[in-house]
Amino acid sequence: MKYIDHHAHMVSRTTDDYQQMALTGCVAVTEPAFWPGWDRSGPESVEDYFRQLTGFEPRRAAQYGIQHYTWLAMNPKEADDRELSREVLKRIPKFLDSPTVLGIGEIGLNRVTRNEIETYREQVELAIEYGQLILIHTPHLEDKYKGTWISVDVLRGYPEIEPGRVLVDHAEEHTIEMILADGYWAGLTLYPQTKISPQRAVDIIERYGPDRICVAGACDWGPSEPVAVPKFALEMRRRGHSEALIQKVIFENPVLFLSQSPRFKIKPGANELVPAAVI
Ligand SMILES: [Zn+2]
Repeated sequence: MKYIDHHAHMVSRTTDDYQQMALTGCVAVTEPAFWPGWDRSGPESVEDYFRQLTGFEPRRAAQYGIQHYTWLAMNPKEADDRELSREVLKRIPKFLDSPTVLGIGEIGLNRVTRNEIETYREQVELAIEYGQLILIHTPHLEDKYKGTWISVDVLRGYPEIEPGRVLVDHAEEHTIEMILADGYWAGLTLYPQTKISPQRAVDIIERYGPDRICVAGACDWGPSEPVAVPKFALEMRRRGHSEALIQKVIFENPVLFLSQSPRFKIKPGANELVPAAVI
């Protein structure tokens, strides 16, 4: 079994986690830019984080044979700060030529404020201007439905965006339909306690089918499971789903979506993987 985790905040993880992921078949991860759990002191601090994501982290992952790619953005949790956001957005373009950057993400809403929506629009426009893929974070709990609806509605104002180049993440039972209906990809990011579990993710695949859905393990600084994707695969197997279907969801689907970026080295239908060290 081989898999790709499209939503893994590896900077908060140890080398043991990389090892565990490699041993369970992980061949590539993509890391969205995120909030560190505390507010950064200014744009320089965010820029240092971008340097870590584009420079150091791919080398760390390569030690375990895992390809590491990244997304750059002003994260939704700090996006309410318009001044900081403007400064960070100015600094993103110079990193977009890095060989492991796949697009703009994770962008979106947290408390669904006017400021967050403004920052979100500007990031969507940045992605359009530079022809980047987009990865969208949707808010949790009580803000989930409204936040997902607004995120999708904002995108409707940009007809130049191809929906197939956008992945709307943290989808749940009550939001996945509106995401898939407009032609976007949906992400099911699994958590051991809060949010969506491997069991609920399998229920969703059984109900909506496997097309345009990817699963991931989050790997952030809070309680999260580096081997959530293999646990999802195990649950699929336990319920009698075929190996072909499991491979489609955990490997072929992310390849289809991510390989729309020329930087992503694994191509649909390729039997041979490019070694992590060459990227
Ligand atoms: Zn995230």
